[in-house]
Amino acid sequence: MPSEPATLIVGAGQGGLELATALRELGDTDPITLVGEEAVAPYDRPPLSKGYLAGTQQFSDIVFRPPEWFREHDIDLVPDDPVVTIQRDRQGGIATTRSGRSIEFGRLGLTTGSVNRHLDVPGRDLDGVLDLRSLADADRLSRELARAGGSGGRLVVIGGGFIGLEVAAAARAKGLEVSIAEATGRLLGRVVSPQLSDFYLAAHRRRSVEVRLGVTASRLTGTDGRVTGVELDDNTVIEASVVLVAIGAIARTELAEQLGLEVDGGIVVDEHARASDGATVAVGDCTSLPNPYTRGTPGRLRLESTQHASDHARTAAATLVGRPAAYADLPWFWSDQGDLRLQISGLYADVDRTVVRGEPTTERFTLLHYRNGLLVAAECVGTPADHVAVKRGLTKGMTIDPEAATDPSVPLKRLLQPGPSGASRAIEG
Ligand SMILES: Cc1cc2nc3c(=O)[nH]c(=O)nc-3n(C[C@H](O)[C@H](O)[C@H](O)COP(=O)(O)OP(=O)(O)OC[C@H]3O[C@@H](n4cnc5c(N)ncnc54)[C@H](O)[C@@H]3O)c2cc1C
Repeated sequence: MPSEPATLIVGAGQGGLELATALRELGDTDPITLVGEEAVAPYDRPPLSKGYLAGTQQFSDIVFRPPEWFREHDIDLVPDDPVVTIQRDRQGGIATTRSGRSIEFGRLGLTTGSVNRHLDVPGRDLDGVLDLRSLADADRLSRELARAGGSGGRLVVIGGGFIGLEVAAAARAKGLEVSIAEATGRLLGRVVSPQLSDFYLAAHRRRSVEVRLGVTASRLTGTDGRVTGVELDDNTVIEASVVLVAIGAIARTELAEQLGLEVDGGIVVDEHARASDGATVAVGDCTSLPNPYTRGTPGRLRLESTQHASDHARTAAATLVGRPAAYADLPWFWSDQGDLRLQISGLYADVDRTVVRGEPTTERFTLLHYRNGLLVAAECVGTPADHVAVKRGLTKGMTIDPEAATDPSVPLKRLLQPGPSGASRAIEG
């Protein structure tokens, strides 16, 4: 075992980098090794389906830190060499990478993120069938969209979640025809309110995107090894020059399983980001955490967002340096679909009342969601001031009178009022 309690962080994405950064900010001076699977330094993933894909951002705009920052902070970044095996006991352990490198550690953080759900249908391996998670995926997709755009081609997106809709908007902007095939009855159904799903359905159709709901892809057809169409379970076929499979992501838990850690759809962690061995911390997309947000509803949740990866990493760092504090940061999220900017704060769950502020057809409006008379979440389209006000209010445990909120001429920040004493609306357990 190493003489110093060296920290190994597996996964050089947002959570991994933030964990290393937070350790340094907390005054930890022990060696840190940050091991990544991708060939590049940690970068901001959201632009892959937005500015980077649209060509308005380059890699230099989205990489988090230059090489000298790692040197200055004594963080040994090891890219392009994933950890393949790992063993540990209470004192520490040893990991081996794909190239055969052995890394001893005293403390361990797993920040392995998530992997795209696989579409298991015939034709999945045809050329022109892609998914999107990494920079390399985004580069491939950009090339395919450029190729298809030049010949009046069509992108078919399988899956109407955030990534699918963002890529659909980017492809329309590049002049492609676009179709979306979504298995459920509404877009974004897993994470947003039905009212917001309806809005996005209408908005994408207004932008000449064909959206089909309640259909699943049963086969991808092709000629000479290249995709030409998507056959749906209603026996129709949509012609395709490029297909993006965007049907969700699953937590990467292989290493946690090797370590014998409890896994339940994600690495099971407590409120301090500690895995079931009480020593390893796990952060971000790869975890399943106790739900601190839904009042009275016990259970666990997975969150896939940059806010969560960052805030959860800070919780894990505090745990590693022996100053644990329970994780309860307010979840927030955003999505840019072409010219539409969505900002969400809080979690849409067990909502019993929704107030619409503004007119959705203007593409600038806010949905305020209530449970038992108290504000729990807001979905803001083109209304950044509302988002800022609600985010601040929910963080402080405040609420907004639903009747007063319907008048968009009154700034929401003026309507914030204290919630029940001592309780935070967003994070009551
Ligand atoms: C296209 C796209 C758009 C998105 N848009 C938004 C958005 O608009 N807003 C938002 O909030 N969130 C968005 N997200 C989600 C957000 O990027 C993730 O929630 C966030 O990056 C999670 O951070 P993480 O550290 O948990 O995982 P990641 O950032 O995914 O990092 C995990 C890293 O671990 C590596 N890894 C895995 N296994 C190993 C191993 N064995 N050894 C070494 N390395 C390993 C992976 O290759 C990866 O680089 C988007 C994601 C994608 C893919």
